[in-house]
Order: sequence, then C-alpha cells, then structure tokens
Amino acid sequence: MIAVNNPITITSKLPDVGTTIFTVMSGLASEYNAVNLGQGFPDFPMSEELTGLVNSAMQNGYNQYAPAPGWMPLREAIAEKIQFLYNTKVNPDTEITITPGGTYAIYTALTTVLQPGDEVIIFEPAYDSYIPNVTINGGVPVLIDLKFPDYRIDWEEVRNKITPRTRVIVLNTPHNPTGSVLREDDIDQLRSIVQDTNIIILSDEVYEHLIFDNIPHQSMLRYPDLLARSFVCFSFGKVYHCTGWKLGYAVAPAALSKEFRKVHQFNCFSCHTPSQVALAAFLQTRDSYLSLAPLLQQKRDYFQELMSKTRFTPLPSYGSYFQCYKYDRISNESDKDFAIRITKEYGIATIPVSAFYKSGKDDKVIRFCFAKKETTLAQAAERLSKI
Ligand code: PMP
Ligand code: GLN
Repeated sequence: MIAVNNPITITSKLPDVGTTIFTVMSGLASEYNAVNLGQGFPDFPMSEELTGLVNSAMQNGYNQYAPAPGWMPLREAIAEKIQFLYNTKVNPDTEITITPGGTYAIYTALTTVLQPGDEVIIFEPAYDSYIPNVTINGGVPVLIDLKFPDYRIDWEEVRNKITPRTRVIVLNTPHNPTGSVLREDDIDQLRSIVQDTNIIILSDEVYEHLIFDNIPHQSMLRYPDLLARSFVCFSFGKVYHCTGWKLGYAVAPAALSKEFRKVHQFNCFSCHTPSQVALAAFLQTRDSYLSLAPLLQQKRDYFQELMSKTRFTPLPSYGSYFQCYKYDRISNESDKDFAIRITKEYGIATIPVSAFYKSGKDDKVIRFCFAKKETTLAQAAERLSKI
C-alpha cells in the first residue's frame, strides 16, 4: 500500500471500462481448474525452428534497439510475402512498421488519425479494444450490428450511418469472435461507399492466415485503391502461436505511415530485436505461413465433429481461432451466467459473445477457442456432452 489516505484523484479517461472478459474467464478457468477454451491462445507448442532462431539471434548479439520502424530484413520479408500473396507492391522502407502486437497497431492507427468528435464505424460484436481506443482519442464510436446469425455486414445500414464526420471504418476479417469473413461482394460495397470520401479504413487482419475451406482472404492489401486509404494491422502472435511475443505490424501508404511512426516513436520507439531477426529468417520459407490454414482447419473440423455429439448448436466458422455455438437447447440463462456456470460446474471456460457488444446484446451464443491440442479438445467435448 503506497498511501492510505491518498489525496490525489484523477478523472478516468475510460470510466465505462472494467477488466476484460478474457482476463475474467481465464481467472475463473484457473480457479476452477477448467479446460480453458475461452481466451484465444494456443496450448500447443510454437515452431521449434522459430524459437531456435530467436536463441541464435540473441547469442549472435542482436540485443540492442532495432530501428524504430522495424528490423529492415523483416520488413523486406513481409513486403515479399505481400507481393507473393496479394500481388501488391508495398515499400518496406516507408509503408511497413513493426509494432508490439496487433492491438498496439490498431491503437496507434486510431491515435494517429482521430480528432475530437470524429466518428468511427465499428461492427458489433467487436474485438474489445476498438471502442475504448476510439473514445480515449476523443472519437465517437458509431456501432452497427453484424446480422445474426451469419454475422455479415448490412451495407445499407452502413450507408445510412455515414456522415460528414465519419473518419474511419473498422473492419476485421477473419472475424473475432464469430469466425465470419468478408467476401468479394463486401469489397464492392465498401468501395462504393468510401470512394470520393476522406474515410480511412482500419483493417484488423490478425487472422490473415487462419482462413478455411479455400476461401480467399479479402485483405485490403489485395486492392490498391482501398489500400491507399488503409491501415492494415497484423499479429505474429496469432499466426505463429506465440501470443506472448506481442509482435505485429501495420501496413499503410507512406503518408499515413509517416504520421503513424510519429506516434509510435514516442510510445515504444522500437520492438524486441531478436524476435524480429528470427522472423525475418523464418519468413523466407513460404510454408511458414502456408501451413497454418490447414493446421487450424483440421482443429476446427475435429472440434465440430466432437461437438456434434452435444446439445450445442454450431454457427459457421470460416476463419480465426474461434467457433461460436448457441446453447438455446440447453438453457435460457444469459450468456454470461451460462458461461460462468459451466466453468464452475462442468470445468469448461468459454467467452460469452455479449461481451463484444457495448449494449451487452445477448443472442445466447458462446465462443470457443479451438486452437488447442486434440487431447484438450477431446477432454472439453467430453465435459460439454454432459451439459
Ligand atoms: N485483433 C483481434 C481481432 C484479435 O483477436 C487480437 C488477438 N488478441 C488482436 C487484434 C491483437 O493481437 P496482439 O495479441 O498481437 O496484440
Ligand atoms: N484476442 C484474444 C481473444 O479474443 C485475447 C486477447 C486478450 O486477452 N487481450 O481471446
């Protein structure tokens, strides 16, 4: 305890914000020794080749500050990957910035562009950092529901919500928590809405490589006209099964990246050097990212098959680490009560999807993370089949 009767008070910049649902459910999971399919992190080991490369980088003396925008060979490897996957040329010198994670890239992009009163269109259910990131920067979140149960965007509603103050549209594909993905017709609609406006697109693509059934990932990197007005954010943690590394990057046109880097240089300045050196080498093999979708698709399919023997009803998952299920055949409790109860009574932790709505909208859906070992998924399904 620093001081008992501390006279110092501050006005909260985020008065409506408490502890995130991920922390709450992971805390409950360990308290009740539950199988944790809540917070999105894998329980299987990451690539030994990649950890070996980090070790070598440390032993070979790559232990001092990297350049603020990132280790150049890593930025070059990313540019080459973008060229290969999306046939788009991105300048590694001026258009790619390495960040300490995807969340940081999103926060920095919003901090870079928002002026007080600017409106930001956010689709709900939404990853939990978006709304606080907007409000802390004096922006105004304009919330639009994705259409339940397939969680697609109603573009007519987007058109109706656009005003002269609309500054940013936030996209997330593949989508957390629902596993929905943008399709080509979504891109056509988006294009027709933003063309001839000054609207910026913030595209959260941290699950870029986790997309299934051979569906093409509709990255903004594919579309030069959209990329010209975009910040596109990525996370190495999510795709290389090392969420604790907190390393990612943002791709944006040079003029936007220049402003982004002004904010970045006075926040963290630069990121962990040995991990960047390692990733630069790891990315040289295309298999390092092409192997990810089949691996996770197999886990999704395995989990779905196990779950078909329970009373949970699946919603489709086309990508990400996640699969949502309705539990209306089991209970009509609120999703939060249900998620807490099954953690305590059956030893299985999940995430209630209402946590991704500002209003707490409850469609009685819970999210499962299937980025787990088969033994974990089997143990979880065994417990779930008793509910
Ligand atoms: N966006 C979404 C949709 C996510 O699920 C995550 C994963 N936590 C992130 C961003 C952030 O990634 P990172 O852990 O690299 O900050
Ligand atoms: N992205 C992860 C999830 O959705 C969690 C990130 C976090 O704990 N902040 O589960």
